[in-house]
Amino acid sequence: MQPTAPAAIPPAVASKRSPSPLSKSGRERYFPDATDAQWNDWRWQFRNRVTTVDELVKLLPKLAPVADVQREILRDFRMGIPPYYLALIDPDDPEDPILKHAAPLQGEYAFRDVGEEDPLGEEQYSPVPGITHRYPDRVLMVISNSCAIYCRYCTRKRIMYEDAVPDVEIDRMVEYIARTPAVRDVVVSGGDPLTCGTKKLESILSKLRAIPHLEIIRIGTRVPVSLPQRVDDELVAMLQKYHPLWVNVHFNHPRELTPEAAAACDRLSRAGIPLNNQSVLLKGINDDVATMRALVTGLMKMRVRPYYLYQCDPVRGAEHFRTPIAKGLEIIEGLRGHVSGLAIPTYVIDGPGGGGKIPVQPQYLLHYDAARKKALLRNFQHRVFEYSEPDAAQPHSGELRPARPSQVVPNANGAGAADGKKRANGNGNGNAAPKKARVRADGQPVVGKSSWVHRGHSREERLRSAEASTRGADAPTPAT
Ligand SMILES: *Cc1c(COP(=O)(O)O)cnc(C)c1O
Ligand code: SF4
Repeated sequence: MQPTAPAAIPPAVASKRSPSPLSKSGRERYFPDATDAQWNDWRWQFRNRVTTVDELVKLLPKLAPVADVQREILRDFRMGIPPYYLALIDPDDPEDPILKHAAPLQGEYAFRDVGEEDPLGEEQYSPVPGITHRYPDRVLMVISNSCAIYCRYCTRKRIMYEDAVPDVEIDRMVEYIARTPAVRDVVVSGGDPLTCGTKKLESILSKLRAIPHLEIIRIGTRVPVSLPQRVDDELVAMLQKYHPLWVNVHFNHPRELTPEAAAACDRLSRAGIPLNNQSVLLKGINDDVATMRALVTGLMKMRVRPYYLYQCDPVRGAEHFRTPIAKGLEIIEGLRGHVSGLAIPTYVIDGPGGGGKIPVQPQYLLHYDAARKKALLRNFQHRVFEYSEPDAAQPHSGELRPARPSQVVPNANGAGAADGKKRANGNGNGNAAPKKARVRADGQPVVGKSSWVHRGHSREERLRSAEASTRGADAPTPAT
């Protein structure tokens, strides 16, 4: 693969100090009559979602030529676009990434018979409806069949035609977790669990929290992206009662990193909820290094850590969003070394039919000869390094050996580390290291007052000595 030239990182997208002009003008353009109170009320946003082709075409007249195709698609898979999210669409750009996320377009129709309903075999690994138990210690729990937005590439398109998940089904999911002690982590997902009312969500979380062996609860949601108004004080106050609680969000494009989304993430973070992002690699939306760099660095500014970059699953009606694996590798290659390591997601491909997430990485280990203890590595600039493993011929025993007195140099009082005066000398933290080691011209340390120098000791000996110095009077005093 060709090295990727470091591209300039685009300017910040999300910051409270730089309100997104696009979002504001979008609101004025598409929803000029909405009052602030309406716009900031998630119920208004939810109620006023664009769900029909007629409404969509009225707002985006350029889509008129594909209206019939859209109507066909909507017989198969519903649409829902909150005004907030729709306002991010650039009406002048036919290739607008936000539009492609949310609106059914030609590709979806062209590939309507390609792909699978359940590409991950989630139902095959399902001990009770709604639970997928694929990994030893954690389960996926689908508590909702609805979302604030219906993403055109969604892996769970199949469940979006169904009615609300009945309470008895949710109770059976909770019972399954309660009787399965191996489960220590639950991913509460959907649909979007945050489309449930706060009360209903709380009743589920409290039942989960009452299970003694369940250690952590995660919520997977796209609401901070598509309907950030939903993350209000009431919701956050409820969520923070169920710690340790983690939230995985789902931003795919830097244009989604608006001040509203940043504020929603901020509210969650301040409630002690760690935020991680899961993106899907989507052709024509985010399948280039510059977009991904802007996304991951923008997320970091919102204190959201990029977690996974998913290869788009071969779900029916999403074939036009799929990229070759080489594209994902190129993106990771373009991130590693170029942006903070913290900002780099793990690129994963879900094994077809239930293989689980399989990490895929560019190859940095060019050659490895375990017998000769040599490896050939390359870095992000494609510079190659030969690396030698430790040589077993050189003795390095793991045993603790008695301190070799001649090599432990006490301070000038003749006292060892355990001497009370040592602390009075200003090394009160009990650390064996001197505050300021004096050094001779030849580089050798000067042995003198309050100098406690170790020479030629094994790591074990140094640790022992450091430990002794903190232990007090009964610690062995090294001989002078
Ligand atoms: C993704 C997923 C999980 C969580 O996986 P992590 O790698 O721990 O984030 C658990 N169960 C199922 C079925 C999943 O698809
Ligand atoms: S919000 Fe999530 S579950 Fe809902 S349609 Fe989008 S990707 Fe699918």
